[in-house]
Amino acid sequence: MADPFPRLFERTVAARFCRALTIEAHRSAQPFYGNRPSPRGFAVAFFEPALEKMRPAKIEALQLERLKKIVRYAAARVPFYKAGLKRAKVSPDKIRKLEDVARLPFTVKADLRDNYPYGLLAVPLSEVVEFHASSGTTGKPTVVGYTRRDRETWTRMVARCYAATGARKGDVVQNAYGYGLFTGGLGLHYGGQAMGLAVWPMSSGNTKRQLLFMKDMGTTILASTPSYALYLAEEAKREGYDPRKDFKLRIGIFGAEPWSEEVRDKVESSLGLRAHDIYGLSELYGPGVAIECEEQEGLHLWSDEFLWETIDPETGEPTEPGERGELVFTMLTREAMPLIRYRTRDLARVDTEECGCGRYHPRIMRVTGRSDDMLIIGGVNVFPSQVEDALMRIPGVGEWYEIIVDRDILDKLHVRVEVEPKVYDSPAFDPNVLQQTITEELRSVLTVFARVELLKPGTITRTEGKAKRVVDLRKQA
Ligand SMILES: [Zn+2]
Repeated sequence: MADPFPRLFERTVAARFCRALTIEAHRSAQPFYGNRPSPRGFAVAFFEPALEKMRPAKIEALQLERLKKIVRYAAARVPFYKAGLKRAKVSPDKIRKLEDVARLPFTVKADLRDNYPYGLLAVPLSEVVEFHASSGTTGKPTVVGYTRRDRETWTRMVARCYAATGARKGDVVQNAYGYGLFTGGLGLHYGGQAMGLAVWPMSSGNTKRQLLFMKDMGTTILASTPSYALYLAEEAKREGYDPRKDFKLRIGIFGAEPWSEEVRDKVESSLGLRAHDIYGLSELYGPGVAIECEEQEGLHLWSDEFLWETIDPETGEPTEPGERGELVFTMLTREAMPLIRYRTRDLARVDTEECGCGRYHPRIMRVTGRSDDMLIIGGVNVFPSQVEDALMRIPGVGEWYEIIVDRDILDKLHVRVEVEPKVYDSPAFDPNVLQQTITEELRSVLTVFARVELLKPGTITRTEGKAKRVVDLRKQA
C-alpha cells in the first residue's frame, strides 16, 4: 500500500470537473429537436470533450493503466478480492493486457450481500461521504459506498449524459426519480447541477403536483422511469392538459427499467419530447453508466470508467465481438468499493463503431432483458421484453400489460393487456379480432401459446416507480 490515498488516481481528470460546456457543430444535422425546432441549431455538446471524444486506442491505453491499478488496489485492501485472486491463482502483476481481465474471478450480487454491510469497502468509513442501498427483494439490501472522489466521478458521468441528450444551460429539469437510498434521484440531481441546469427535486409520486409543476415551472427535461412517463402522459390528458401546448418539455431521460421502441414512440408523441434511454445500476454508482446521445442509436458507455465485457451467461465465456451477451463491468477508478468483473445479469449487444455524435465510447444496443428475468415456459426461453415488443407493434393495444406465468401440469403463459382508450370506446371495436391478432403475434414471436385477456383501459394498477409487469406464480408455490 505504497500509494497514499489521495494520489491513487490521476488528479487531472478531477480538475476538469465542472468545466465549461463545449458546444460544437453537429456532424449529422437533425432539423428537429424532438418535436420542436432545436433552439441552438445543430449543435452537439460535451461536458468533458477530451474524455468523451477520446479515440479507441487511447481509451484502451487508459483502461489498461487503470485496470492494473485497481486490481492491485482491490487485492491490497479488500479481503474478498485478495482471497478471490488467490483462489484463481492470479497475482495483480499478471495483468499485462486488457484481455487478461478474463483471468480474474467474477463478482456477483450475492457477494455484495455476503459481505453486508461494509465488507467490500476499500477505505475506512472516515473516507466515505455517501451511501446508497438497493432495496433487497430477497433479504438484505445491497450497500454501496462513495468517497468524495467517487461521488465526483459519478456526477461527471451523469453530467456527460445530460450533455449527450442535448441539455443546455437554461434547461429546467423535473427529476421524478425517487430520492433517498435509490440512486436515481440524487444521481440525476448531482449531474444536472454540475451541468449548470436548474433541478427540481420532485422525487417520484404525487402526479397532480408533477403535472402542475411541469406546466407552471416550464420544465424542459423530464427524468423518470419510462413507465411513469407513460403514466404522466395519460394523467395529463385526464387532468385536461394538452402536453404539447401546455408543457415545454423537449428531453426525457428514462431508465431503471427496460423499455421498447414502441414505448419510446408513445412517450415522445404524447409528451412532445425526445426520449433518451439511460443505463446504470446502483452497484455501479447508479444511473449514468451509459446514455443515448442525440442520434438515439445505442447508449454510449463511459469506457474510461468501465471496462466492459459481454459473456455467455451459461458458460461465463466471452461472446464473439458484437454478439449479445451478459454485460460484465470492471469499475476502473472507484475508490470506496472497487468492483471487478461484476455480472449485471443484463443482456445486450455492444457496438464499437464510431457514432455520428463524435463519441467513440462503445454503445450498448439497448438492454433487451435480464438473464434473471428470462422465463422458461414449457422449455422455451421467453423474455418479457419480447412480449412487450410484440404487443406494442399491434394497433389498438394500450401501454399497460401484465405477464402472468402459472403451472398446473404444464406451464401457462397468460398476458393481460389494456386496450387503447380511443379504440375501446369506438363502436367499430371488435375485441375478438384484436384478441386473435395478439394471440397469433405472440405465438409467432415466442413460439409458445399465450392466453390473451383484453382489459378495459385503466384496469392495471399504475406504478410511480418501476413497473411490475411479470408475475411468476410458479415461484410463489
Ligand atoms: Zn453518439
